[in-house]
Amino acid sequence: MGGTFDPIHHGHLVAASEVASVFDLDEVVFVPTGQPWQKVDRDVSEAEHRYLMTVIATASNPSFTVSRVDIERPGPTFTIDTLRDLKKQRPDAQLFFITGADAMAQILTWKDAEELWTLAEFIGVTRPGHELDGRGRDVRLLEVPAMAISSTDCRRRVGEGKPVWYLVPDGVVQYISKYRLYRGADQLDAGTS
Ligand code: ATP
Ligand code: MG
Repeated sequence: MGGTFDPIHHGHLVAASEVASVFDLDEVVFVPTGQPWQKVDRDVSEAEHRYLMTVIATASNPSFTVSRVDIERPGPTFTIDTLRDLKKQRPDAQLFFITGADAMAQILTWKDAEELWTLAEFIGVTRPGHELDGRGRDVRLLEVPAMAISSTDCRRRVGEGKPVWYLVPDGVVQYISKYRLYRGADQLDAGTS
């Protein structure tokens, strides 16, 4: 499951958990993007913050892991590269790419869209406020419990001093507060660079 995860929230986690259960997956690999090419118009938080929040949010689930392939690859993130890298690391694995209804709508515009379908099966999950449309493609569609949560809304709430408790995992609430993320100019860096 790829995402900006800025920050990761319960919508992501419920979707991943539901897909893992329905498709009987051994593992869900969360892959925080490097510089997302669709989001160049806004400041995306440092990759290390997004990676660490994803680790915190998934740590207690034995079948959830987090991959650094996208944040370690220079340049903008393209899903085709993500899938190629994951395939290299797990040559025998059958890969599924989990995506929400909004991202599914953009999929045909992606770089090397044709090869994408040979590398993984695509699972589109429902998301409140977005029409789920596989457009005749060989995409599996799955209804997941509706969580009307977005990272954009979480960031806005933090900026306005509103709580994000129960929208994101407790550890992520604390991480956001510790590093003063989403409050404007005084965001602290992750201390790793
Ligand atoms: P932003 O508002 O910054 O775009 P987001 O909430 O859309 O953040 P992303 O990191 O962009 O989160 O999403 C990663 C993936 O998770 C995408 O495929 C997206 O469609 C899916 N997703 C995000 N939120 C939900 C949700 N509430 N329910 C189902 N799928 C979701
Ligand atoms: Mg999004």
